[in-house]
Amino acid sequence: MSVLVYTENWDGKFKKLSFELVSYANEIAKMYGTNLVTLSIGDVSDDEIKTLGKYGASKVINVNDAKFNTLSSQAYAKVISQVADKESANVLVFANTYTARAVAPRVAVRMEAGLVPGVVALPTVTEPMLVTKKAYSGKAFADVEVASTNKILTLNQNSFKLIEAEADVTIETFTPEVSDADFKAKSVEIQKASDKLDVVDAEILVSGGRGLKSAERIAVIDEMAAAIGPNCTTACTKPVSDLDWRPHYEHVGQTGKVVAPNLYFALGISGAIQHLAGINSSKIIVAVNTDKDAPIFEAADYGIIGDAFEVIPKLIEAIKEL
Ligand SMILES: Cc1cc2nc3c(=O)[nH]c(=O)nc-3n(C[C@H](O)[C@H](O)[C@H](O)COP(=O)(O)OP(=O)(O)OC[C@H]3O[C@@H](n4cnc5c(N)ncnc54)[C@H](O)[C@@H]3O)c2cc1C
Repeated sequence: MSVLVYTENWDGKFKKLSFELVSYANEIAKMYGTNLVTLSIGDVSDDEIKTLGKYGASKVINVNDAKFNTLSSQAYAKVISQVADKESANVLVFANTYTARAVAPRVAVRMEAGLVPGVVALPTVTEPMLVTKKAYSGKAFADVEVASTNKILTLNQNSFKLIEAEADVTIETFTPEVSDADFKAKSVEIQKASDKLDVVDAEILVSGGRGLKSAERIAVIDEMAAAIGPNCTTACTKPVSDLDWRPHYEHVGQTGKVVAPNLYFALGISGAIQHLAGINSSKIIVAVNTDKDAPIFEAADYGIIGDAFEVIPKLIEAIKEL
């Protein structure tokens, strides 16, 4: 057997999440006493693929054909199961992204595999596998037993540390057997909503709620994010994007994007359960709110009871001094 990890790319580049994923898969391969095989699909340069070697990817299967440059979940699922079959992989690992949500269930059907989406730790038992995932919008953890021979896990972002395990990378080209019938639905054009750093990729988020009063006044979060630097971007609550104070791609929460930054500033945000569902994997939450009883303070690691329009300029000043 082997462990197969599918490393998604974004415009030919890997992200920190990809390296967390390879670190995680490499540890699973060690637990099962087997080797790790990494799969890259789409147009990724050899130099970029070699960056995975730092985290233990020694053998990389490269499916680099223009027809895979945009996602077709049906075709991707076929390619991944063909590679799993060729490499006798019983354990498959994906990052828990939109792509994995579309592809992993299809692979699970093809391989008759048990699928655990959103795992947050290494399995505690290997056979039958026992692994922890988030449940109830992140309010609880569930231990899931996987009884099937083939197993598929999707790993939540920022839930596993990077582990360096320098490996010499061998890249092997693979030509999958696919036909036009495997591309029943495919993206023909992708228009990015913005060139800004996406909320799911930012290390630090400065997020504004209805307490920041208006489209004009909430712009103070842009100033604070700019002061922090390029690893930081802005986010907001649902009502703020519904009111068109901020763009919809900044909306985080149960019905928005799920984020897991190292630092989340919740400014003028009450901390409704639907908002917390999208942010409660943040490593550190700092809240600023005038209401000492606001629920956000229960989720926050640090809280400042005060008017955000007085506190934010002081924070910006302190950040600039740093
Ligand atoms: C099905 C469903 C799905 C939902 N999905 C989401 C979702 O994905 N994401 C989401 O965010 N919400 C979601 N909501 C909405 C959610 O229930 C809350 O209504 C929303 O999160 C509240 O947004 P808010 O904190 O910006 O506003 P409010 O609840 O109005 O809170 C504003 C806060 O600002 C404070 N404040 C006021 N003035 C100041 C000041 N000068 N300085 C500092 N603090 C101040 C107030 O004390 C208050 O706590 C959903 C709701 C439903 C029903």
